[in-house]
Amino acid sequence: MKIHEFQARQLLADAGIPVPPGTMVTSAADARRAAESIFGAGGRLVVVKAQVHAGGRGKAGFVKLVKSPEEAFEAATFMLGNRMVSPQTPPEGLEVRRLLVAEAVDIEREFYVAITVDRARRTNTLIASAEGGVEIEHVAATRPDAIIRVPLHPVDGLAPFQARDAAMALGLRGKPLVQATDVMLRLAATFRKLDASLLEINPLVLMPGTAEHPQGRISAVDAKCTFDDNALFRHKSIAELFDPSEENPAELHAAEHGLSYVALDGNIGCLVNGAGLAMSTMDIISLHGASPANFLDVGGSASEEAVAEAFRIILSDSKVKGVLVNIFGGIMQCDRIARAIVGAAETVGFKVPLVVRLEGTNVDEARRILEAARERIPMMQAATDLTDAADRITRAVA
Ligand code: ADP
Ligand code: MG
Repeated sequence: MKIHEFQARQLLADAGIPVPPGTMVTSAADARRAAESIFGAGGRLVVVKAQVHAGGRGKAGFVKLVKSPEEAFEAATFMLGNRMVSPQTPPEGLEVRRLLVAEAVDIEREFYVAITVDRARRTNTLIASAEGGVEIEHVAATRPDAIIRVPLHPVDGLAPFQARDAAMALGLRGKPLVQATDVMLRLAATFRKLDASLLEINPLVLMPGTAEHPQGRISAVDAKCTFDDNALFRHKSIAELFDPSEENPAELHAAEHGLSYVALDGNIGCLVNGAGLAMSTMDIISLHGASPANFLDVGGSASEEAVAEAFRIILSDSKVKGVLVNIFGGIMQCDRIARAIVGAAETVGFKVPLVVRLEGTNVDEARRILEAARERIPMMQAATDLTDAADRITRAVA
C-alpha cells in the first residue's frame, strides 16, 4: 500500500527525523492561507507540491517554489486544474486532489537515502547516494557505482557503524554526519516497526551553514513510504492512511468482491482461478502474439455472484475485444463458473468473442450447463486445452 508524501513525512517526524513544517490542503485558497502562515512565521520561501501516488513531480512542474501567498495560489490553481504526467504515471496522467504547502529549505547538497527489500540478496538494504535529487533514476542507470548498498542484519537491522560508514561515504563530516547517521538508523527502525517495503527520502538535504548551525543541518524534504499489504492487519493506524481516490476504481471494486484484478494494456480479458494459472494464461496469450487486458484471479472459493461481478468488470473495459475463461477446478467448481457465464450473458451480455476452457471438479455438469445455453451465447467457443484456448481467442480478436 502506498501513502502520500504528507502522510509519510508525518511518520518520519514521529520517528524523530527532521522535516520542514508543512500542511496538506485541497484548494488554492487554502494553499494561499497555508503559505501566508509560513511567511508570517518568518519563512522566506515556500514550496507547493502535488500529492499523488507517483514521483517525478519536480520535473513535471508539480513541485513549485513560491515567494508569496499569491504565487502559492497560482501554483495551486495550476496543479489542481491539470493532470500530472511523469514517467511514473499512466500516459493520461493523474488528477491532483491534494497539495502539500511546506517551508522551503536552502539546499547545499541533495542525498538519496532509502531502506527497501533487496530481493536478489534476500535482505533488507540501506541504499544511499551522494547524488540524490530528481536525477536519481538516471544516476542509478548510468553510474551504479554512485549508489551505496548496505545489507541489513536480519535480526539486528542496521548497525550504527554501518549507518556512520554510509554517511561518511556520502561525504558528510562533523554535526551533519552525526545527524545523517541518526536519520538512517531511525529510518531502518521505522521500516521494521511498520512492516514497510520501502521508506525513501529523496532528497535528504544538507542545508548551508548559518550562525546557529555553522556546519549546516540535515532535513528530509521528500518522503515516500510503501507498506506490505499482508502486514497491514497489525498496523491499523497505517491502514487508515489508505486513499482510495488514488487507486484504479475497477481494481478497488474487484477487491471488494474478493477478486484480485490488475488492469493491463492488452485486449484479451482473462478470467482465471489461481494466481499461478492466471500468470501462465497471460504468458500463453503473449506467446500466441496477443496481449492480456487484465490479470484476474477469482480465487478458489469465489461465489457465483463474485464470478458474475468479475465478468462485469472485464466486460466494462472498452479495450476488451475478447474474453478467455481458463478454469482448473480444484476447490473452485466448474459448474459455478458455467452458471456465472450464463448469468453474465443475461445480465451483462457478451458482445465480444468468448473462449472457455474448463477442467477439473464438476466439469461434466459445467459442460452440460454451457451446452444448454449455447444458443443464447452464440459467441462462445469451447476449447479442448489451454493451447487451443489461446489459439482460438487470439484468432478471434485478430
Ligand atoms: P519528486 O521526487 O516527486 O520530484 P521532490 O519532493 O523530491 O519531488 O521535489 C523535487 C525537488 O524539489 C527536490 O529535489 C528539491 O530540490 C526541491 N524541493 C522539494 N521540496 C523542497 C523544500 N521543502 N525546500 C526546498 N526544495 C524543495
Ligand atoms: Mg523526490
